[in-house]
Amino acid sequence: MIGLISATAAGAVARDRLAAAWPGRTRVYEGPVRDAVERAFGECEQLVCFLATGAVVRLLAPLLAGKASDPGVVCVDEGSRFAVSLLGGHEGGANALAGEVGDVLGCAPVVTTATDARDIPGLDTLGWPVEGAVAAVTRAVLDGAPVALRADAVWPLPPLPVVVSEEAGTVLSVSDRVGELGPREAVLRPPSLVVGVGASKGASVDEVLALVGEALAGAGLSPLSVAELATVDAKAEEAGIVGAAARLGVPLRTYAAEVLARIDVPNPSDAPLAAVGTPSVAEAAALAGGGELLVPKRKSSRPDGLPAMATCAVVRRAPRGRLAVVGLGPGARDLLTPRAKAELRRASVLVGLDQYVDQIRDLLRPGTTVLESGLGAEEERARTAVAEARKGHAVALIGSGDAGVYAMASPALAEASDDIDVVGVPGVTAALAAAAILGAPLGHDHVSISLSDLHTPWEVIERRVRAAAEADIVVTFYNPRSRGRDWQLPKALGILAEHRTASTPVGVVRNASRVDESSRLTTLGALDPTTVDMMTVVVVGNTAAREIAGRMVTPRGYRWQTEAAK
Ligand code: SAH
Repeated sequence: MIGLISATAAGAVARDRLAAAWPGRTRVYEGPVRDAVERAFGECEQLVCFLATGAVVRLLAPLLAGKASDPGVVCVDEGSRFAVSLLGGHEGGANALAGEVGDVLGCAPVVTTATDARDIPGLDTLGWPVEGAVAAVTRAVLDGAPVALRADAVWPLPPLPVVVSEEAGTVLSVSDRVGELGPREAVLRPPSLVVGVGASKGASVDEVLALVGEALAGAGLSPLSVAELATVDAKAEEAGIVGAAARLGVPLRTYAAEVLARIDVPNPSDAPLAAVGTPSVAEAAALAGGGELLVPKRKSSRPDGLPAMATCAVVRRAPRGRLAVVGLGPGARDLLTPRAKAELRRASVLVGLDQYVDQIRDLLRPGTTVLESGLGAEEERARTAVAEARKGHAVALIGSGDAGVYAMASPALAEASDDIDVVGVPGVTAALAAAAILGAPLGHDHVSISLSDLHTPWEVIERRVRAAAEADIVVTFYNPRSRGRDWQLPKALGILAEHRTASTPVGVVRNASRVDESSRLTTLGALDPTTVDMMTVVVVGNTAAREIAGRMVTPRGYRWQTEAAK
């Protein structure tokens, strides 16, 4: 919940706008300001104060308990010109909140956290627990001082401008192992461990947790690296296991007994076979997702000497790389989606055609490895992107428009095995960008057809054009014409003309949303194909399409409009 506090009439107006914009997310605190801030501080995860920063600092001072528990606080000035992230920039989410408040109220977010200001991901923003000399390492990274990166494995981290130098006094480790930390060492805890647990009916949360704690400690492993608990389906509701997962703050994954029974384990036994139908629960559940068994099955020890009620085993799973397939949109920066932007900055390796890389190079974080190649190297790009992800990196494979439309997504995913995570980010494809410029040509059924016969035999293309012609579907031609391919477009238009009149509207859009954008509306009979090139899409209307007020409109076919036209 976000607590809202204001003192003046102007503050109350801005406060009410925020409350109206975010129904269910905010709570208004009225009454004397000191009292309102105190109550909100205790009850909310975040506060927006429509008060001067000085006043808020004084009111908050006696309430502060620590970074981990204090709410994030944003201050908005009387004129709603600034949203200042005052407290809890990262942990409390105040930096992000300042941006969101800025979006609603039209004020500028003010963020003073060093890492955000310098565009370097703070160690605490990676979403993984971090321990040790966080401030010292962050400082060194910011100052560009040498930092040694010591990672047990390649994890899909965002780019970190760290200098790999063993002499550096400052060390950033990525490890699930506990051990003595150097005075200038911070350690990121990757989500590498899976703990398999079994429990008899009624086992207590404390018994399960104590067992897990002993197993990890005995093997020198950090509880902060536990990614999940795993057990058999029959124990999905077992309070001791459910409670232990909740206390560790990790999800509980369950597997069918038949699945677990098929997994080879070092310590099978008869008891679980009889009870739940698999000779191993803890070891098999831990190993079910793959990985290396670090702690074989062990049983809980009970102070009262009664038989153990819980078992556990620990597996380290291999890091999974991450491949984001990102569409950049047709060209204009404001048609690049915020999600695409975030993925570009999330990746430590960027793979793409050089001209597309140029389009977004300024958005990349320092330290990003850019692997660019020229036209025609599709296969190499697809292979490279997948290979980098398989090494464990966070990779972004980019394409213009939508990366899945006549672009890199399919060749890349055809190469990819199931050992990497894949994230798709849709982009505004050329057909949509062009349609918005032309009017509403795609208002009814439509199809895209690429006229490039480089990889598709012309007979196949022609069959599809003919089918679209016969079915009276609006057609957008991609790759319509190049210097070496000049007869395909007239041929395709000829096929459509067998089923549509010469006055059928045709929209021609070149370089949609780019600096030299141009568009024209003509007809099937009048289009001169020599005016079309590879930077262009050609949209041919169906038999109902019309030019209305200079715009291309394919009627949706609503009865109320048909009636009106009569
Ligand atoms: N993935 C891209 C399409 C790649 S195929 C997308 O989703 O848009 C390349 C063809 O797309 C070009 O020959 C052209 O026909 C079309 N195209 C791409 N961007 C365009 C733009 N900004 N304006 C007009 N046509 C474009």
